[in-house]
Amino acid sequence: MGKGDKIPFWLDLWAGNRTLSDTFPNLYNHESDKRCYVSDRYRTNQGGIQWFWGSRNNLSSNALLKEWDECLAVINEVTISQRSDAWLWRMGEKQVEFQARLVRAELDEISLINETTVLIWLHWIPKKVNCFLWRVVLDRIATKEALQILRIHLPSVNCVLCNEEIESVNHLLVTCGLAQQIWAVIFQWMKIPLPRYILSVVQLLEFTDSYQGIKKYKRAVYTAVATTCWIIWKTRNDVIFKSKPPVLAKIIGDIKVVSFSWVCNRSELKDFPWEKWRSFRMRE
Ligand SMILES: [Zn+2]
Repeated sequence: MGKGDKIPFWLDLWAGNRTLSDTFPNLYNHESDKRCYVSDRYRTNQGGIQWFWGSRNNLSSNALLKEWDECLAVINEVTISQRSDAWLWRMGEKQVEFQARLVRAELDEISLINETTVLIWLHWIPKKVNCFLWRVVLDRIATKEALQILRIHLPSVNCVLCNEEIESVNHLLVTCGLAQQIWAVIFQWMKIPLPRYILSVVQLLEFTDSYQGIKKYKRAVYTAVATTCWIIWKTRNDVIFKSKPPVLAKIIGDIKVVSFSWVCNRSELKDFPWEKWRSFRMRE
């Protein structure tokens, strides 16, 4: 508390162990302005603080006067300063004024789940795709393997794109034969050599993150990777629910067009030319 200009006199916890409305219910009932601030009820006088009963209802009985005396004893213990009231919070050793950006910085430092350190919340891509990628990394999308673990009966747990292996997240999005062909083309498009050891989405994101470049370039790479995962998932759903066979050229086209529309509509590169995006010229 500073000078009490933002703290309700009766309703906030600022003097004693409880709110004054709880400690002195009869006074509170008698109060005409139940939401008055602390600063409404004192004046400064030669450097000292003088409290007064400021309500329109006078203290009309001895019982109320006695309670007000007890209330004064409690509030006289409190030190009033010159500055405005402010939210403080503890950052390490010291207390500082609360700012949302400090909380965000602190939260970014904490990594509860290792896998998620590869994720960034990028405004270039839609929220649902940010969320999708988050769930992919945590192995929380409804693949056939996941459904089988939940004891949901399925005619087959094989990947619908290759029909050779169990459909897990990392098989579907990375190690499946079709996924490998897609990534080979997408990495060629981004002009990044695709290493052979990559077997999961987390490894893929770790690798692309280690690839240095200007911010715009790194964001474009992240967008391309996120879009590719998203389009592979959509392709898989189209096979299952609409019986549409996957076509590599169409998938690649979709990845480029969809990511381009997100970059144009969502990023700060509003008038980015399609010609440049198509050839991934992001370093210029
Ligand atoms: Zn497969």
